[in-house]
Amino acid sequence: MSRPLFSATLAGSLPKPSWLSETQKLWPEWKLQGDELAQAKADATLLWIKAQEDAGLDVIGDGEQSRQHFVHGFLEQVEGIDFDHKVKMGIRDNRYEAMVPQVVSELRLKGRVHATEARLLRKHTNRRIKFTLPGPMTIVDTVADGFYGDRVKLATAFAELLNQEALALQADGVDIIQFDEPAFNVYMKDAADWGVEVLERAAEGLTCTTAVHICYGYGIKANVDWKATLGEQWRQYEQVFPALAKSRIDQVSLECFHSHVPPELMALLAGKDVMVGVIDVASDEIETPEQVADTIEQVLRWVPRERLLPCTNCGLAPMNREVALKKLEALGLGAELARQRLRVAAESS
Ligand code: ZN
Repeated sequence: MSRPLFSATLAGSLPKPSWLSETQKLWPEWKLQGDELAQAKADATLLWIKAQEDAGLDVIGDGEQSRQHFVHGFLEQVEGIDFDHKVKMGIRDNRYEAMVPQVVSELRLKGRVHATEARLLRKHTNRRIKFTLPGPMTIVDTVADGFYGDRVKLATAFAELLNQEALALQADGVDIIQFDEPAFNVYMKDAADWGVEVLERAAEGLTCTTAVHICYGYGIKANVDWKATLGEQWRQYEQVFPALAKSRIDQVSLECFHSHVPPELMALLAGKDVMVGVIDVASDEIETPEQVADTIEQVLRWVPRERLLPCTNCGLAPMNREVALKKLEALGLGAELARQRLRVAAESS
């Protein structure tokens, strides 16, 4: 594997510019329509590609500029889902309420979902590119089921559609396909019992690198309040990591900096690349490169250096754009500082 040590990347989403959509919202309304909207999405993607490169990130994403929300962006291209009659549903075990579309008949893809963004990304950066898709269990937790009547059946149906799109993304030149499964941290037993297996169905046949992102959510109030109830030690990962360690998924993205996750849980992921969250998405305070490098150093106790990939704790979509940009820069600088420290340590020993 010829990637630099401490290859830095993002969990996925970035804030949308104010000329593209509403800002600092999880489900922002677009400000344009039709061709103008398509052009504005592409423009926003390009500026974030440049910003990620300038920040020194090694793996570049599209910042999810073309989707309103990380789950519903995929669902919009799925036949069998009724977006006209959304219903209010408690999601993530009733942590918050959302207006969600309903599954009303057998699911099928209408066509390609993310071809435009993936090809744009491939064309405009020479670095490795990562594309994010919602994981099957998280999708099931973000729609109302009026047809399948069984969570595993519904998740498997989504996994098959995700697999079709993932194989096509791979053909578009995507190097890493990441599935976002925040639901794994909410339904830990289900995740271990069937969630990981269904996730593997979504990744079946992929020869590119595969990843899963598991987090404690965006830095929105409902999540911050929920985290306050989780106690001193957040051990949710403990139930899911052993199943993931046995799976064929190559990389796991997890929260670390400012979270109450005991870092020794990362040792449960032996054999996997670990995308370690070194940037807090629930605070506007900008990390210093020293803080980022310190987090990396601490984690080296549990994750071998060649498997440690510094990352953000979660997506940055609902954040202020300037804050997000500075956090990207801190991520890139912190990874570089961590590399420097290792070089100095090697020279002086
Ligand atoms: Zn996340």
